Order: sequence, then structure tokens, then C-alpha cells
Amino acid sequence: MNDKQIDLLNLDTHELTGLVQSWNEPVYRVKQLQQWLYHELVDDFDAMSNLPHPLRARLKAATTIGDLKLIATQDSADALTRKALFQMRDGQTVETVLMRYLDAPGSPEDSTDPPNVARRTVCISTQVGCPVGCPFCETGQAGYIRNLTLGEVVAQVLYFAREQKRAGFEMPLTNIVIMGMGEPFMKFNVTWRAIQAFTDPARLGMGARRVTVSTSGYVDGIRQLIEKKSQVNLAVSLHAADDALRDQLVPVNRKYPLRELMNACREYVHATHRRITFEYALMDNVNDSAQQAEQVAQLLAGVLCHVNLIPLNPTSESPYRRSPYARVLEFQRVLNRHNIPTTLRVEKGIEIMAGCGQLRQQVKRHSANVNALPLAT
Ligand code: SF4
Repeated sequence: MNDKQIDLLNLDTHELTGLVQSWNEPVYRVKQLQQWLYHELVDDFDAMSNLPHPLRARLKAATTIGDLKLIATQDSADALTRKALFQMRDGQTVETVLMRYLDAPGSPEDSTDPPNVARRTVCISTQVGCPVGCPFCETGQAGYIRNLTLGEVVAQVLYFAREQKRAGFEMPLTNIVIMGMGEPFMKFNVTWRAIQAFTDPARLGMGARRVTVSTSGYVDGIRQLIEKKSQVNLAVSLHAADDALRDQLVPVNRKYPLRELMNACREYVHATHRRITFEYALMDNVNDSAQQAEQVAQLLAGVLCHVNLIPLNPTSESPYRRSPYARVLEFQRVLNRHNIPTTLRVEKGIEIMAGCGQLRQQVKRHSANVNALPLAT
């Protein structure tokens, strides 16, 4: 790739049409191209057999299909979770995670081919680093560098879609969660254009309810999402039910305190009739007492919601530790007593450091000896 090449994944249908027309090609080429890119999932212009050779040559010279270069991967011991680290045109790196969930007892080894995997969820990033700066999060601690482009966001999904297609899945991915590095609502326009790329039938064509966008509580973005009248799922990282503690754990709370956040959440439920998922990472002796569970219950009373309890994925340098299991269960019992539905998130890939930003930091620390890591082939 070079700086003058256009990333085709950065273009929506209207923009791709403009490019095709500027080359004096018929407009039906747009449909053909999108079919190859998003349905056939090819990453090679030579495979686009119904495009004439001169057009393929021009595409090859002037455009790219995504701008990500895979530089490292890590797999969990059960082979169900895979993390990928990609490098972009400017040398910055970003992480993406594939999480696969079995639909029947057994391991991938004793499953059929393709394995008996019910859900294949890809968790994507929207920024290099994150300006929110949550102290328990490796990404937040590493600082913020820049927003990703639409093409860089979409390419993360296509990478794993291709991989799962090669593994034999007719529907390569079942879910997309925008929950990796970064605050997706800080650059709402890019996130919204990515959601359109995922749900537009001419492109990936996924059902909106299979797409989840997760925010740290960026109230302006929640309101913009309400205006879009979209059916995508909304998740909100709560982590504390009082402003003093949330100011520390999720610093965006200083800009949008809990009262404002909860008002926006109620507006969202009122406008969409959709349930919100509140994410709550349980940290040992920080936010995991029964009394704090009571505060969460009071805060969420009357809101159509679900609480996802996540024992913290500990990072190497953070003083925050995961809660003991007994306390996690007690926290859950308190919420359930208040009729607040909960799930205890199945931990995916803890040993490969599936928490966001951790592979990126590991590669940075080992940059002098990157071969010490399991590298992409
Ligand atoms: S937890 Fe999310 S919002 Fe907080 S710093 Fe990490 S990536 Fe950003």
C-alpha cells in the first residue's frame, strides 16, 4: 500500500459510486465490487472474475482492500478466543478479538468440522489508545493517539470474517461488538458509518440486533444514537453507582455524571423500547461490596436493563485486582433480589490477556524482541 491508494473499505456506497463514475465505469460495477468485498470476502482483486482485466489492474494500482497488516496473534488454550494485533499505514497498532462460543459440550478438538460453534463474535476497536483513561484498563493507561478511519474499523471485522469463512462457516460471524480499544461515541460519525457498513444488505448485511456498541457513558453519543432510531444494542460501562467512585474509575463521569447518564439511558429506553446492558467490572474491595450492589440496584430501578458482571481482567501494572468469586456471587444475588437481571460474563481468553489493549502493550514492551510472542503466520 502507498499513501495515494484509496482504501475501498473507507467508502460507503455513495462514495464508491462516485469513484466508479469518476473512472467512467458503469454504476453496476459498484454492486459487483461490494459483492466481492463484503459477501465473497475476497482480499485479492485477481479473484474478482466478473470485473474486466483493465478495471482490476486499475483497482490494484489505485486502491487497497483495507489497510491493516497483521503483526501478532494470540490464541487461548481452548482455541476459542483469538486476539489479533494489526499495524496501520502510519505504524500505529490496534487490537481485535474473536470470541467463539460452543453450542454443545465438548472442545473444538472433538467437534465436527467446522467445529460446533454457535456464536462467533468479533470485538473491534475504534481508536488507537483511549482518551477516557480508566485506571484499570491497559488501553486507558497507555494514552490516546488517534481515531480509526471507517476503513480501519471495517477491516478488523473482515479479517475475522474471512478467517471464519475459510474455517467453513456459511455465516462467518454472528455478532459484532464495538467494545475494544477506544470510546466509540467520541467520533460518532465514524462509528455510525461502521454500523451502516455492518448492517447494510449491500455490504455485510447483519441484523442490527447482532451489533452492539459499548460506551463509557458518553451522553452526547447516546443521544445521537437515539436520533438514528437504530435497533443496534447499547451497552454502558457503569462500574460504579456513585459519582465520587465513578469519577475515578471512568473519568468521563466528570463530564457526564451519573444523573445525566441515567437520564440519557431512560430517554434511550423510552425512544427505542430496547433493553440496555450495563457492564460492571468487579474489582476487589473497590466496587464489589453488597452495599455497592444495593446502590447499583437503586440507580437502575425502573430502567429496562440487564447487568453484565465481569470479574476484572487484571492488567500487569494496575493495582486493581479481580474480586473473589464469593463476592461476585453475593453482588449478583443482591441485584437479582431487586429483580435486576444479570449475567456473569463467561471469561474468554484470560490467559491470552483478552482485556483490551493488553496484547498491544505486550508487543510494545517486547518491541526489541517481538519474536518472543506468538506471531502471525
Ligand atoms: S475501559 Fe474502555 S473507555 Fe475506559 S479507557 Fe479502556 S477502552 Fe477507554
